[in-house]
Amino acid sequence: MSILETRGLSRNFGGIQAVASLDLTVGEGEVLGLIGPNGAGKTTLFNLLAGADVPDQGKVYLEGRDITSWPASRHARAGIIRTFQHGRTFANLSVLDNLHVGTHTRRRAPDLWGALFPWGRQSREEEALRRECQALLVPFGDRLTPRQDEAAWQFSYANRRRIEIARALAAHPRILLLDEPTAGMNPVETLEILEFLKGLKAQGQTMVVIEHKLPLILPLADRVVVLDHGAKLAEGHPLDIPRNPLVIEAYLGGKHHE
Ligand code: ATP
Repeated sequence: MSILETRGLSRNFGGIQAVASLDLTVGEGEVLGLIGPNGAGKTTLFNLLAGADVPDQGKVYLEGRDITSWPASRHARAGIIRTFQHGRTFANLSVLDNLHVGTHTRRRAPDLWGALFPWGRQSREEEALRRECQALLVPFGDRLTPRQDEAAWQFSYANRRRIEIARALAAHPRILLLDEPTAGMNPVETLEILEFLKGLKAQGQTMVVIEHKLPLILPLADRVVVLDHGAKLAEGHPLDIPRNPLVIEAYLGGKHHE
């Protein structure tokens, strides 16, 4: 059964059909790669899946439930967690506090007793969360852990992307939506992220990954969907995608774009 599904999903911006009657499924534990030329509608689709935007037509289903009109906060609590194309961290918060924010979608509000006396169960829970956040930094080696108490603004662009990914994982995503996770990273850093994402996949993490870099998406994805002008241009096994004539034409330009 698919975890996430769209049917006839459409979003128009003043005449520009950013997403056009799109049917999409994402299976449990699947890694779906989403590629397409600039302006193909990939980020708009993420906005619709994460509840940051509302479609003009069509539906989004999470495990069979119609979530199309849910607010974004409810999507996040249900486990649809995304990262952003240009990376978003809380600049003045430390690395650990950024991750701590990520845990809020699964935290209970303190009861009156906990609010009045925040040193019992609540402080034990906070300590456990802190340790969990620290563990999420470990896969990034020395890049983040030794600097876990430094403010996010002090980090390089690539490190802020890593903080953002770790924060998304702190939310225990049911489905992780990654928007160009290696944008701004060099080939070595991109390979590191590939290995990291392969590790997540091996743990069964369901993911949809927007990525222009085929060397990342081809070895990672179970299936690739190619968007063009908001519609599905091609779909299939990653190895078949680069030799699909429609895909070549869409990327290189040609009749399709004339
Ligand atoms: P890229 O790879 O360049 O990030 P994309 O595939 O993510 O592109 P979108 O950002 O989803 O594409 O944009 C799809 C189309 O919708 C583009 O033509 C874009 O200009 C348009 N668009 C997206 N958001 C808006 C908006 N808020 N208002 C008007 N037009 C928009």
